[in-house]
Amino acid sequence: MAEAMLVRPDRKFVEEIIAAGGGDLKKCMQCANCSVVCELSDGHPFPRKEMIWAQWGLKDRLVSDPDVWMCHQCNDCSKRCPRGARPGDMLAAVRRLTVDHYAVPRFMTRVANRASWLPVAFLLPIVLLGVALLVRDPIGRALGFGTDPAFYASFFPHWLIIGLYGFFSALAFIAAVIGVVRFWRAMRRSDAAAGIYAAVNGIPASIVGAVKDIVTHYRFGFCGAQKPRRLAHLAVFYGFAALFVVTSWAVVDLYVMPLMGVASRYPFDFLYPAKILANVGGAVLVFGAVKVMVDRKRAQGPGAVGGTSFDWIFVWMLLGVAVTGFAVEIFRFTVGPEPAAGLRTAAYATYFVHLVLVFQLLIYLPYSKFAHVLYRTVAMVYAEHTGRHRPVRRLQPQGSQLRLPGVTPATR
Ligand code: SF4
Ligand code: SF4
Repeated sequence: MAEAMLVRPDRKFVEEIIAAGGGDLKKCMQCANCSVVCELSDGHPFPRKEMIWAQWGLKDRLVSDPDVWMCHQCNDCSKRCPRGARPGDMLAAVRRLTVDHYAVPRFMTRVANRASWLPVAFLLPIVLLGVALLVRDPIGRALGFGTDPAFYASFFPHWLIIGLYGFFSALAFIAAVIGVVRFWRAMRRSDAAAGIYAAVNGIPASIVGAVKDIVTHYRFGFCGAQKPRRLAHLAVFYGFAALFVVTSWAVVDLYVMPLMGVASRYPFDFLYPAKILANVGGAVLVFGAVKVMVDRKRAQGPGAVGGTSFDWIFVWMLLGVAVTGFAVEIFRFTVGPEPAAGLRTAAYATYFVHLVLVFQLLIYLPYSKFAHVLYRTVAMVYAEHTGRHRPVRRLQPQGSQLRLPGVTPATR
């Protein structure tokens, strides 16, 4: 006789999933259509089991479930669900709540993601950077920093940017590490309790496997209903990566090269390799962010991915960083060494907005959709480590002819 199991539903968590975008989860009747459709399930009850866990409010199971992070929200399952329960959206809601659950301090997720808190989210960096500007000169003198003649640095000095951004990035990094370590431990604890934990691959090999997957966005190749999302996501990923490389390059050029006796080339000329990379990266990021928005707006019907404020705020933020970055550059190359006062003010105001957006992106990293990069990576490493998603590698991308004999995508 089967062992009795006591289920303690967390009704508050069910309400939270519904509020986070999983509003149709109660329609699920456990028919398993979604598990048959999902290219990642490979015979396992995914995402059907997550649907019943969500209906029962089994929070501990869901926030420690790596499978939730294997899903890339293609919404093929939502398209084929006969009840309109939208399992793809339910999983997206759980991912958001997982970030909330492990965030330190938790209230920051509210500030970073809720449309109603947006003014506060903006106000924080504006006040902080504004105060930094007010105390710029006395602190600069006290620390022995001279005035930098470079156009933007004479307004917001490099030492101030490095100090402020370095300090707050370090705080965000520590918060992010605490969050993902707690997540890793929860996944391991959950599998150990279920008696299925097994270390199949070492951590270094697992990291290599996960990184290969990320750089190619391998899983996106299986999308049916939302196939164009792969290109948009790849563009956002590589555009942002290019800008990150250029920022690091600039810091090294400004502060490390002079220590080695090499003169700094900053601010970079238009045709300097780092500047070319920055412009290409910025253009790719703009393309990716706009494509994400257009795809979301255009998509209609059961397989559509509309997104919540959690998704939209992040993509607007990325676009804002790229567009203001270009505006700052245009000012720099066109105003000349002695610009009119009005032009100078416009350039500095644009630069200030750019700094606020970059600051926001960094300090809200562990709390916003940006945190997905970290949680998904950790879940993928865990999946490689435990041999969890090996079967997916045997599948063929959407459009391939190598499918189950006699079964077409239309009849699956
Ligand atoms: S989510 Fe839809 S397709 Fe999946 S088990 Fe529930 S009713 Fe069936
Ligand atoms: S959204 Fe796509 S990847 Fe995610 S569970 Fe549904 S079918 Fe699978």
